[in-house]
Amino acid sequence: MTGPTFNTAGYHGLAPHGYRYCPRCGGALSDRVIKPGEGPRLVCGSCGFVFYLDPKLAAGVVVEHDGLVVLLRRAIEPAYGRWVFPGGFVDRGEHPEEAAVREAREEAGVEVALDGMLGIYSHPTGSAVIVVAYHGRVVSGTPRALDESLDIGFFQPHEIPWMELAFATTRQALAAFAELKGASAPQDGAPDVPWGVSQTASRASRAEPLLTESSSRQDLRAPWVK
Ligand SMILES: [Zn+2]
Repeated sequence: MTGPTFNTAGYHGLAPHGYRYCPRCGGALSDRVIKPGEGPRLVCGSCGFVFYLDPKLAAGVVVEHDGLVVLLRRAIEPAYGRWVFPGGFVDRGEHPEEAAVREAREEAGVEVALDGMLGIYSHPTGSAVIVVAYHGRVVSGTPRALDESLDIGFFQPHEIPWMELAFATTRQALAAFAELKGASAPQDGAPDVPWGVSQTASRASRAEPLLTESSSRQDLRAPWVK
């Protein structure tokens, strides 16, 4: 098995992340090769601190409720107005499983039991975010749209809105889930954005018009959305 190929300039170089100062002492950061064979790292010229550009870890859960998949329509950028399953960044010291359960509680108002892991996903072009996705089911509470969501929807596995999903990782995890349920994802989905890209980039890569503040939620609601 061959590993992923990295754009070392993009991952380790000063651009495009824009970090200029050491978070420990405020000294200037500059690119320096510290291990032969690896790309340059950001190193502080004053204290020697190496600022590693680590990926961000996120966790999420594809939640089932009465045999339907619970999805949330994002009320925040990036990917405003698109569907995701509950998920978010893992806190330091928190297990990804705990993070997935917490996100379901915070975003959909339910306690979930995890049934297993679907996979570990990142955007094919590389991004700052790696997502650990689980599948699980509601054990208490009724799913509802809370913070960060415009709406909540309940979908049969074969009715997942593939063209309106938020991220490549959303699609990858839901495709794995659909396969578990004997359904399948269409070959081509809507262009999607890696998590953590700028608002400008996410808008530019959208295939469909942006939903606007004045759009009627009722108009946007699919017939199977409760
Ligand atoms: Zn420093």
